Amino acid sequence: MSIEIRRIGIIGAGQMGNGIAQVCASAGFDVKLHDLNADRIHAGLATINGNLAKLVARGALDEPGRHAALARILAAPALEDVGDCDLVIEAATENEEVKRKIFMALNPLLKPDTMLASNTSSISITRLASVTDRPERFIGIHFMNPVPRMQLVELIRGIATEDPTFEAAREFITALGKTVTTAEDFPAFIVNRILLPMINEAIYTLYEGVGSVDAIDTAMRLGANHPMGPLQLADFIGLDTCLSVMQVLHEGLADSKYRPCPLLVKYVEAGWLGRKTMRGFYDYRGEKPVPTR
Ligand code: NAD
Repeated sequence: MSIEIRRIGIIGAGQMGNGIAQVCASAGFDVKLHDLNADRIHAGLATINGNLAKLVARGALDEPGRHAALARILAAPALEDVGDCDLVIEAATENEEVKRKIFMALNPLLKPDTMLASNTSSISITRLASVTDRPERFIGIHFMNPVPRMQLVELIRGIATEDPTFEAAREFITALGKTVTTAEDFPAFIVNRILLPMINEAIYTLYEGVGSVDAIDTAMRLGANHPMGPLQLADFIGLDTCLSVMQVLHEGLADSKYRPCPLLVKYVEAGWLGRKTMRGFYDYRGEKPVPTR
């Protein structure tokens, strides 16, 4: 039995939630965008509007296309508003307790056949699915940041995920014009299992005084041909998300090689979370980013 997906609910209108909303609406899906904080929904809609306007300016989209995509996204100030969606994608803060509470609150609100997904970067899909009333219809759909620009989506099956759920998710991602890779349900899956320890090591390199922010990023950009330095990338991802992924790796794999760098912890404790708070390894409040160490 195949599952038809037409209307998508998105929980969390942060940098990932609004990106997911944009690509879904651009591909013709109806979208309902929810956040705990109504201001984030409006900020998300404004970001999407700005991104689509840039596509129009570049000739990649026409004006009627922009209007049609925007018209497909509805603000959903109450969680109940996503109850009639065919697929609900959770893209809230990377914190297991937060996510569990969202899924528990969603249980009584959804249609019986609604599929559930989490965009988590690292948390067990099996564990998140276990708090829902439909673990067989639950899957990890891990988009990359920035969603409109990144080609890859990781699909992660939980232990109970059934084949029609996996196939429906694969078809949905293909309809968005993106490429699927499949990962088993182990901490941080594939991309972040490899990427985050590299970023954490870059932060240790800074912490131990091997190099400055500028030296480390320049070294990896020009020496390893990475498009951006690891500290710049950490700011882009969000330092709270980076720390959370390292904690999941450390606890989930019980190996000291995943120990989060104390300097990363300190930045998060200071509320210097990267670009989204205008300060992280760089200060973004001026005309151009200035290293903070
Ligand atoms: P973000 O901080 O930009 O946004 C998180 C949003 O979730 C905020 O707007 C917050 O208000 C909202 N939120 C928190 N609790 C909520 C609740 N109970 N109900 C509804 N909304 C709630 O974070 P982000 O970077 O968009 O990350 C979101 C998810 O996507 C995380 O699981 C993260 O691991 C994952 N992810 C992030 C990246 C990245 O590079 N940042 C990449 C892939 C996946």
